[in-house]
Amino acid sequence: MSSHDVVIVGARAAGAATALLLARAGHDVVVVDRARYGSDTLSTHALMRGGVLQLERWGLLDRIIAAGTPPVHRVTFDYGGKPVVIDIRAPLYAPRRTVLDRVLVDAAREAGADVRFGVNVTGVRVDAEGRVTGVSARDADGAAVQYDAMLTVGADGTRSLVARGVSAPVTTAAAHATALIYGHYRDVPADGYEWNFSAHAGSGAIPTNDGRTCVFVGASSERFHRELRWDRPAAMRALLADVSPDLGARVAAGQLDGPLRAFPGMPGWLRRPFGPGWALVGDAGYFKDPLTAHGLTDALRDAELLVHAVDEGLTGAMPMAAALAGYERVRDDLSRALLDTADAIASFDWRLADLQVLHNQFSDAMQEEARFLRALRTPPVRSPLALGA
Ligand SMILES: Cc1cc2nc3c(=O)[nH]c(=O)nc-3n(C[C@H](O)[C@H](O)[C@H](O)COP(=O)(O)OP(=O)(O)OC[C@H]3O[C@@H](n4cnc5c(N)ncnc54)[C@H](O)[C@@H]3O)c2cc1C
Repeated sequence: MSSHDVVIVGARAAGAATALLLARAGHDVVVVDRARYGSDTLSTHALMRGGVLQLERWGLLDRIIAAGTPPVHRVTFDYGGKPVVIDIRAPLYAPRRTVLDRVLVDAAREAGADVRFGVNVTGVRVDAEGRVTGVSARDADGAAVQYDAMLTVGADGTRSLVARGVSAPVTTAAAHATALIYGHYRDVPADGYEWNFSAHAGSGAIPTNDGRTCVFVGASSERFHRELRWDRPAAMRALLADVSPDLGARVAAGQLDGPLRAFPGMPGWLRRPFGPGWALVGDAGYFKDPLTAHGLTDALRDAELLVHAVDEGLTGAMPMAAALAGYERVRDDLSRALLDTADAIASFDWRLADLQVLHNQFSDAMQEEARFLRALRTPPVRSPLALGA
């Protein structure tokens, strides 16, 4: 058994970022993940303004750029052949998860966090008063291990074992879900982010590392289950031909590198993200339909919001429960418009002119979020390692 201030389950966008900022603030944090260090996961990876801003504020954007992640200077929305082009001054980036998650993990380790891969958490441990005291797990050799902590953080994604273990209530439930099929292609040029829409489907192109372009198609979850899931290459071709013949032609001339992956869709939620001895961050606490490509940005945002609260709780500046209640309030205030609009977009129950209005609403909420993040003080840095002592 090992004992810590905080144990985090999940070492990707939300968990590794939380570990990084907690370790920089001088707290004893262990983060465990059953996956392999540097592995990929089911996700495309377009970062929006808030996400890029967070990486910059934490001093990590240079590492993303050094990994060869191409800058994105233009975003094009095409509504049935009517393009809206937005040129952006400060570039966006879309690092592969093998790059982004690794950069966050490396930085967390450098700051003093103990990050362990190949550890499968099997249960949440609760004392006689109902307070979470840590987790039980199996390490990479299959041996039973226990991590005790003052706070257990579930950063373990949409199927969060921590959220289930503490019966975290869903406070807001979305209704709609988009299914996505995507792959990474060689020799498919893309002029920045491209999002294309027809009456019943979407597609997009996201330039990324190693000269690859991530190409996706999306449709309602019902349609995926009814007709698209049986033959992914055929579904990809058919939706591209419907939504964006131009992107379809570029894809036909390129080469698929790796598998075509599919996400069947899952309606979003906000869950209560805290209770006695536990907290949730990232998808575990707040998930929204991925067609708007904003989950990573929000995971990085919420990692920092959570760390402010946990730091106040651990240092005694505020009772932990009050600090975590503040985390929930701010997270929800920043998330509701994003969640509701993403849900309306995922309904596919719009005309293209209405969709444009929904995208404008989403953009307003993103700008509000970016304004908030610009004004947010960075969490304290106390760790001698992070201070370079
Ligand atoms: C198809 C698809 C496309 C997307 N595209 C985009 C996009 O373009 N842009 C964007 O911003 N967002 C996108 N998202 C959303 C984004 O992927 C998520 O918001 C993001 O991954 C959330 O990060 P996280 O750290 O909360 O969870 P995850 O990335 O899911 O990480 C959770 C980690 O917890 C670990 N874990 C789970 N259970 C256990 C356990 N019991 N024991 C140990 N470890 C455990 C897992 O191994 C995993 O590594 C997309 C999502 C999907 C599904």
